Amino acid sequence: MTTALLFRESPYETRFEATVEVVDDNAVVLDRTLFYPHGGGQPGDSGTLTLADGSTLTVADTRKGDAGAVLHHISEGATLPAVGDRISGEIDWSRRHAHMRMHTCMHLLSVAIPAPVTGGSVGADKGRLDFDLPESTLDRETVTESLNALIAADHPVTAEWIAEAELDVRPELVKTLSVQPPRGEGDIRLIRIGDIDLQPCGGTHVARTAEIGRVRVAKIEKKSRHNRRVSIVFDPDG
Ligand SMILES: [Zn+2]
Repeated sequence: MTTALLFRESPYETRFEATVEVVDDNAVVLDRTLFYPHGGGQPGDSGTLTLADGSTLTVADTRKGDAGAVLHHISEGATLPAVGDRISGEIDWSRRHAHMRMHTCMHLLSVAIPAPVTGGSVGADKGRLDFDLPESTLDRETVTESLNALIAADHPVTAEWIAEAELDVRPELVKTLSVQPPRGEGDIRLIRIGDIDLQPCGGTHVARTAEIGRVRVAKIEKKSRHNRRVSIVFDPDG
């Protein structure tokens, strides 16, 4: 059962209608969804599913299942829907929007620090990238200011698709050494930020960089001889 991924084309939509296709343990698979499943360093969405009788189920987490299914994990103790039921879903928008802002900020961080990225993750109040940087001269204030300049420039953020074969001849597009884009689906999604960044990504992003708001570098850690971990937080005073 493949779930149609509505969040890809409509990252700003918060409500949708769908049909229950599979119910397994506490996980519900729908024919279509706006809930982003955990992946690429971005957490799975939370929210609610409302049944025709008005009862509401809490989606605690969203994960990828087998063969393109998206698993909506329902909080323990709820009465689960039946296959074929119509539901209306609503994502927790304030949490998802924070993920979109911080996720897009991580793309800009990879521009501010032009070094190979070996890992990363995004949360609703912070994010981090790991860089392969044996000789580090990174300075918190300098990175904070270049990041905020990229944000304030209000670059448009757009998605496009290319064939896997094209990516094979343009390997420089993949900045994230540890997280290669998924293969075998024919096409790969690229996220373009103005004329400053282009990289494969399946996550959700804001439409323009100014929407991220001001951020600051919380810390820069030396995790190993090569690995520098740069942590970012939203700047509440910005
Ligand atoms: Zn992304």
